[in-house]
Amino acid sequence: MTVPTHARVVVIGGGVIGCSVAYHLAHMGWTDVVLLERDRLTSGTTWHAAGLVVTFGSTSETSTEMRKYTRALYGRLEAETGQNTGLRQCGFIEVTADPDRLEEYRRVAAFNRHCGIDVDEISPRQVKELFPLAHVDDLLAGFHVADDGRADPVGVTMALAKGARQLGVTIVEGVPCTGVTRRGGAVTGVTTPAGDIAAEYVVNCAGIWARQLGAQAGVTIPLQAAEHYYLITERIPELAERGASWPVLEDPASYGYFREEVGGLMIGLFEPVCAPWNVRGVPEDFSFGEIQPDWDRMAGYIETAMRRVPIAMTTGVRKLFCGPESFTPDLQPCVGEAPELRNYFVAAGLNSIGILTGGGLGRVIAHWIVTGRPDVDVTGFHIDRLQPYQATPEYRRIRTVESLGMVYQCHYPSYVMQTARGAKRSPIHDRLAARNAFFRDVSGWEGADWYAPPGVEPRVSLSWGRPSWFGYWAAEHRAARDGVIAMDMSFMSKFLVEGRDAGRLLDWISANRVDGPSGVLTYTQWLDEAGKLQADLTVAKLDDERFWVVASDTAHRHALTWLRRHITDHHAFVADLTSGYGQLNVQGPRSRELLQSLTSADLSDAALPFRGVRDIDIGFAQVRCIRITYLGELGYELYIPTEQMVHVYDRIVAAGERFGLVHAGLKALASLRMEKAYRDYGHDIDNTDTVLEAGLGFAVDLIKPGGFLGKDAVVAQKASGPLGKRLVQVLVTDPEPLMFHAEIVRCNDRPCGYLRAASYGHTLGGAVGLAMIEAGGVPGGVIDQKALDAGRWDVEIAGRRYPARVSLRPLFDPDNRKIKG
Ligand SMILES: Cc1cc2nc3c(=O)[nH]c(=O)nc-3n(C[C@H](O)[C@H](O)[C@H](O)COP(=O)(O)OP(=O)(O)OC[C@H]3O[C@@H](n4cnc5c(N)ncnc54)[C@H](O)[C@@H]3O)c2cc1C
Repeated sequence: MTVPTHARVVVIGGGVIGCSVAYHLAHMGWTDVVLLERDRLTSGTTWHAAGLVVTFGSTSETSTEMRKYTRALYGRLEAETGQNTGLRQCGFIEVTADPDRLEEYRRVAAFNRHCGIDVDEISPRQVKELFPLAHVDDLLAGFHVADDGRADPVGVTMALAKGARQLGVTIVEGVPCTGVTRRGGAVTGVTTPAGDIAAEYVVNCAGIWARQLGAQAGVTIPLQAAEHYYLITERIPELAERGASWPVLEDPASYGYFREEVGGLMIGLFEPVCAPWNVRGVPEDFSFGEIQPDWDRMAGYIETAMRRVPIAMTTGVRKLFCGPESFTPDLQPCVGEAPELRNYFVAAGLNSIGILTGGGLGRVIAHWIVTGRPDVDVTGFHIDRLQPYQATPEYRRIRTVESLGMVYQCHYPSYVMQTARGAKRSPIHDRLAARNAFFRDVSGWEGADWYAPPGVEPRVSLSWGRPSWFGYWAAEHRAARDGVIAMDMSFMSKFLVEGRDAGRLLDWISANRVDGPSGVLTYTQWLDEAGKLQADLTVAKLDDERFWVVASDTAHRHALTWLRRHITDHHAFVADLTSGYGQLNVQGPRSRELLQSLTSADLSDAALPFRGVRDIDIGFAQVRCIRITYLGELGYELYIPTEQMVHVYDRIVAAGERFGLVHAGLKALASLRMEKAYRDYGHDIDNTDTVLEAGLGFAVDLIKPGGFLGKDAVVAQKASGPLGKRLVQVLVTDPEPLMFHAEIVRCNDRPCGYLRAASYGHTLGGAVGLAMIEAGGVPGGVIDQKALDAGRWDVEIAGRRYPARVSLRPLFDPDNRKIKG
């Protein structure tokens, strides 16, 4: 077997994902592509997939768009390639017998409709008409998408491969990639037993093998293979005669989905407690493989599933199939350019939706490679959100059980991941625990979310309504507005950038002017050349050659990679000091009084104004004190050497008694910042937004000498007239309903956007969030405050519409009086 010596792109893996990437690269004009498949196409996981093609079910715009695109692609591939994809748009129904799931599916259905999916809520009787063998007596409703259905995974993959070949892609079967070559932090090709291939880009689409292959190149891909099952019954006359035209039926509460398969019933299963497979490493020679099914473990789940289609209980089983599929710590795929190695892309970890998203994912990756940037929001599934600690065998073994188990759970907004916890702790963790903190997983850190009063166990109740801790949360929120709070935010990412050119470098990559006077913090965004947001953070100038950069926990690897990759020939060095410093925020109108009582430094407004940075003494510690707020009050962020965190915390708490100091958690942070309409990258702003659309034009310095990366795009957008979309703050005027994410916003009955993130405004008195709205939905087609005030606005929450106020300026303290006071 010979392989080409050079290709522009080498794609590793001939499953549905690798073939889709190669197909889309070719369609975008990059035909100098080699796809390497270790064995034969589809021989990994793809060959045995159940082939569901479903657009319903996600509240991620990116995932929903990928599903829609995939369904449409599979519909046209046969005409293009002559290869049948087996696409049968027989419909799909998600059913529920549980009120909480009904609420969830209504929320999802509204969002999916907004994205252009035709979802109908149907009665149990209609479910029965469409799937006559279903037991429907206990059901509350079904959600039906007539155009969804199923496809043949092998047919789809072969069609993608054929389409790619037709355009010039070379597909080599029977040759594994054994490693990569690299130079200067970038990949330069791959090695194979048949010779090396020099390449500009490499794409790891190796499915359950992707983690091991990535590790060889130093790339972290923390996915884990797990057992995944379906059962096929003997022939059932009703199904054999008409069942091929029946929809796919899914009942997550019964752990199963159901469809016709060669005249019998296929029951696919997502069990709540699964079995990871080969944690130490997936065998390299596992091809067209099956795993010996574990009947004992699965029998109970199978029985429960069969109750939804009772005829299965009296029909023989033809096959219980078990195959491996990869799952990730948060059920999102691992996608994009690896932070460890330039031009090394990953598209793996599909969490059992690789067929139904595979077309769209291939398109996204190809677009990303060809143009240099993705054209969809990738913040939720970018490989750089994941961290090396998540690749440890113990983490994968434990977390995979929970993540796979979540697939069929009701996705309550207050659910927090329970397993693989305690990986990272702030130095004051035990003290916060003693104060009754409820902790949640914050990028592996134990983050205090809210505090229960003494004697009350901090526990979450799962519901869509007001949680049991709503009152505690409100009290923390009010303490920040009226008194003083302490909040541990040690999980924030902290970087020290030093060197003769540190200021020049940071000024070049920041849209704001960050290299002004020393001792001043600047809020800024980092943009790409197209003017799209890449980071949202603060830069504090300590002195001419030292800068303190702080980003959120989720942005850690993205911001660090962006920074490092732009150093080029600057005399600048980055140290990641996240572990070296704890962060304690003291915020609220009484924060100055409290801190002043503890330090010899002058904290008066004149000595330490808003945005000021000073090293101050507290007890035996020198603490970096920055007067800044993310919740809209007079307040301070204290950066404390890790080993002195406990000491400083104790001093603050002891002195705080006199000032009524309250401990506040991240729920309060979310509600406070949302009232002030402060943005959070990856939640309400992302890589598809420009700084102007995000309403952050005030943080852009268009006249600073030397300009900045992305400036031309900002200038061009400014000159091109009114914006097509803008981020607005939305406040529901009825104090009762809660918003979480993805609720649809209407102006004069016309949908014009959805809530990207939301919380509850305990001061504003209602659910509040940030929505990106389209100009086309606003009267006059121009989004300005006048048009917003003239419109009649409402938000759809679980099927009901509630009046809302919509604003471009923050509804809480728009003039920043409290911050500067
Ligand atoms: C029982 C079951 C049912 C499923 N049902 C559905 C469904 O209904 N709908 C849905 O959307 N998804 C479903 N899935 C999930 C779906 O099958 C996967 O998400 C998808 O097939 C993953 O595709 P892939 O290309 O990432 O991986 P794979 O298909 O495993 O492809 C990876 C390829 O890489 C090759 N490879 C590995 N290492 C190397 C190397 N070093 N060099 C070269 N080649 C290499 C392998 O041989 C393999 O062919 C199901 C999965 C299972 C197990």
